[in-house]
Amino acid sequence: MTTTTNPFAYAPAPESRAIVDIAPSYGLFIDGEFTESSGQDRNKTVSPATEEVLAEYAQANAEDVDRAVKAARKAFEKWSALPGSERAKYLFRIARIIQERSRELAVLETLDNGKPIKETRDADLPLVAAHFFYYAGWADKLDHAGYGPNPRPLGVAGQVIPWNFPLLMLAWKIAPALATGNTVVLKPAETTPLSALFFADICRQAGLPRGVVNIVTGDGRTGQALVSHPGINKVAFTGSTAVGKAIAREIAGTDKKVTLELGGKGANIVFDDAPIDQAVEGIVNGIFFNQGQVCCAGSRLLVQESIQEELLDALKRRLSTLRLGDPLDKNTDIGAINSAEQLARITALAETGEAEGAERWSAPCELPSAGYWFAPTLFTNVTQAHTVARDEIFGPVLSVLTFRTPDEAVAKANNSQYGLSAGIWTEKGSRILAVASKLRAGVVWANTFNKFDPTSPFGGYKESGFGREGGRHGLEAYLDV
Ligand code: NAD
Ligand code: MG
Repeated sequence: MTTTTNPFAYAPAPESRAIVDIAPSYGLFIDGEFTESSGQDRNKTVSPATEEVLAEYAQANAEDVDRAVKAARKAFEKWSALPGSERAKYLFRIARIIQERSRELAVLETLDNGKPIKETRDADLPLVAAHFFYYAGWADKLDHAGYGPNPRPLGVAGQVIPWNFPLLMLAWKIAPALATGNTVVLKPAETTPLSALFFADICRQAGLPRGVVNIVTGDGRTGQALVSHPGINKVAFTGSTAVGKAIAREIAGTDKKVTLELGGKGANIVFDDAPIDQAVEGIVNGIFFNQGQVCCAGSRLLVQESIQEELLDALKRRLSTLRLGDPLDKNTDIGAINSAEQLARITALAETGEAEGAERWSAPCELPSAGYWFAPTLFTNVTQAHTVARDEIFGPVLSVLTFRTPDEAVAKANNSQYGLSAGIWTEKGSRILAVASKLRAGVVWANTFNKFDPTSPFGGYKESGFGREGGRHGLEAYLDV
């Protein structure tokens, strides 16, 4: 939001994009080199904030995927035979290069994804490096991870990731796979392929042996070719529940090991004794971080009835101060929605909310004329039957429900097909423990939200998926145990 009349308005503070050198066109990264696809299909990736085309890239076909899987298979022999301490050296090297190049990668990610530089710089990139450091530390300690002596890797992992945290999801997938001695073929999302292609360059810079990491770009067809390839031993997927189910069907009856990280509809529960200002910050962080395009977003606010009015007043006041606009501006809080398709999905679900009788409020802000934008929005008068209380919107849209007793809060929070995350806001430690133990959610935050750390496992209940990523638990997904 820009206000010309406000004497205290921030001056623009754009991060320079000169630090990033984006090539006009990219091939696939297979067996340690950039190579062309055997087909002619090309895609374009745009900056969602401006619709400017950033680069063209290859749409990998089944033949390309086969080449990548074969390269990974060949590399597996030597990579898995290396002592863990040797594999660790590469991972530490990758982690340090990511730190050294973090400003460049943050700008790149902001350009390709549309999220604010404040987030890529202060959240995504530090977490990406931390993940590689963390799993580098495990590589020579696998004997002590609780899976018996000398646990074996699975082989070649086929990994498919979404566009909401492109480089971070890559790190979540690649770091534990490599630490445990697997090799990988990874497919980034079609709207955000660039940071994975830059990561390929980092692998070369780190001297990683050829074929240990292969990057194939393309849309769902490339993903499908990868997960169905008979030469892979493990499928790791993060994305929509619909595609997750299709993948589960695809690999049923094979011996491929699988982890699925799917959608969510996280409940953020605020009790009447919660510190209101802190809770407001947590609610904002819970649903407006990354424009709400977060699987563990706190997209359902459950507020105790007695404080509803006070809390909503404070929340609306706070939302009115959020700055929406150029993601490269260091003062920007709300960036662009990742794609025209995602914007259409959010818009349609918000319209359904209104049509079903929920009351819509949007922060007063001017939306830029080019690019994909959606103002921070909340719905009140929402019941559990409303679509906006049930479906994952994956956008900056909060549904507000109320409760009277802790039992009612728990029942409503658990009334979801999903079970990925939840938040509890209360002053009483005993209440935190009592409520948290009844929530069917993989992560429960208390008096905070959206806090991530490579040492803690992440994953879901019910249709949010299965398997855990992160922490010691994350090793299991890549070990033959
Ligand atoms: P999606 O599931 O279609 O895409 C995720 C990844 O899977 C992409 O890399 C895509 O190319 C790939 N893919 C698509 N079809 C595939 C197939 N049949 N086999 C293998 N890979 C395939 O997600 P989307 O269309 O970008 O977003 C749709 C919805 O998914 C969003 O509105 C949101 O609700 C949800 N979503 C969730 C997450 C998450 O982190 N859990 C991430 C992105 C999207
Ligand atoms: Mg893009």
